[in-house]
Amino acid sequence: PSRRGSLSDVPKDLLKQIERLEEIFMVKTDKLKEITDHFVGELTKGLTVEGGDIPMNPTWCMGFPTGYEKGTYLALDMGGTNLRVCEVSLPEEKGEFQIIQSKYRMPEDLKTGTGEELWGYIADCIHQFVEYHHEDEQDLETLPLGFTFSYPATQEYIDHGVLQRWTKGFDIKGVEGTDVVPPFEAALQERGLPIKLAALINDTTGTLIASAYTDEKTKIGCIFGTGCNAAYMENCGSIPKLAHMKLDPDTPMAINCEWGAFDNQHKVLPRTQYDILIDKDSPRPGQQTFEKMVAGLYLGEIFRLVLVDLHQTQECLIFEGQDIGKLQKPYSLDSSFLSAIEEDPFENLSETEDLFQKHLSITATKPELELCRRLAELIGTRAARLSACGVAAICKKKGWTECHVGADGTVFNKYPHFKARGAQALREIFEWKKGMKDPIVINPAEDGSGVGAALIAALTLKRIQEGNT
Ligand code: BGC
Ligand code: MG
Repeated sequence: PSRRGSLSDVPKDLLKQIERLEEIFMVKTDKLKEITDHFVGELTKGLTVEGGDIPMNPTWCMGFPTGYEKGTYLALDMGGTNLRVCEVSLPEEKGEFQIIQSKYRMPEDLKTGTGEELWGYIADCIHQFVEYHHEDEQDLETLPLGFTFSYPATQEYIDHGVLQRWTKGFDIKGVEGTDVVPPFEAALQERGLPIKLAALINDTTGTLIASAYTDEKTKIGCIFGTGCNAAYMENCGSIPKLAHMKLDPDTPMAINCEWGAFDNQHKVLPRTQYDILIDKDSPRPGQQTFEKMVAGLYLGEIFRLVLVDLHQTQECLIFEGQDIGKLQKPYSLDSSFLSAIEEDPFENLSETEDLFQKHLSITATKPELELCRRLAELIGTRAARLSACGVAAICKKKGWTECHVGADGTVFNKYPHFKARGAQALREIFEWKKGMKDPIVINPAEDGSGVGAALIAALTLKRIQEGNT
């Protein structure tokens, strides 16, 4: 619903711009349905030998936990923003898992450095963690590790992974197209760490498994964070590109969709000039089209690009006569900036005023603040609604009319109204009867990159012991 009615004395040129922004950023019900249907086709294509835009990566995580997984595991989470090392103890029977963890910053320059620097830094963090928590242990038994590597990887085994391409702004030379496990293990060995990588997993797969452990209705794991993606189970018999391996057709296999790559062909998504600009100036133009419209890394940047454009255009006088130098710096606003604006009560927007003053040295007028607020709503709402299309598509493809979706990530957990807006979009797509309890619900997930990684490591070791590889 438009808030235009409540805008105070907004000059005509600003009003016109708001209308234009609404026009290009709002995604109506019919469009949601069209996107969802196209998405279903792309999920299916990705499973074929020929493939499509969406990689649909088999993960070799074959089946859900029973609740009887046990043991102690290390879990390493290499996300887009932080590095986390955990030690997870699974209880004998389903119950409370114990987890100790340390977080490390991922230095910005690491993201554009060399592979050697990356693996060295990660191994150093693990080293620190082990020294701290196992200080006095002389003959530390080898610890199995679940490594959550949240990038698209081709896996022929669960303990290997060839990086398809970096996403989320990473641009480390010489890693794409190579197996990331050997250099990582070499870095561990150099430091004499008694650790054996048991499984390389995606954060979405971890989320799926961890959420299913505590809620059996879970069928999909999603990340709405710095990046955006989902995983679900497919039976091996329904994965044409694995037919040559003659796997048992009824054994489930988690598929890491890598749906950030949806619509790289630009067939259906309502891209604006700003989305096109983000792509053009990114380290990997032409890739992650969907992700660049919905994920946390990009929301603030879309907002920034719109404001810079409005400042420059003749048709509108926003921040007139002010130095917008700070606003001109790419990626200077992250999604928490938009979160804060959306949290600010529309009536006075004093928080927003402060934010512009402090972060950008811009003094915004009341109507300008109102435009910014409306713009944040538009960008945040579009992200939630488009994200819902991915969830709807998996459900439609699988014929699931009822299920739970476990979701994690800063956007899902922290961005105001993201969850409600996504739920609303699902209602529109599926046309659920008014007053009916939503049959498909997206809930906050269990810790996929920690507990999920440990569970998958446990499942893998058990499978090996039983001689099924
Ligand atoms: C990566 C996925 C990951 C997602 C969420 C995307 O950029 O390609 O592997 O699951 O971000 O972290
Ligand atoms: Mg993460």
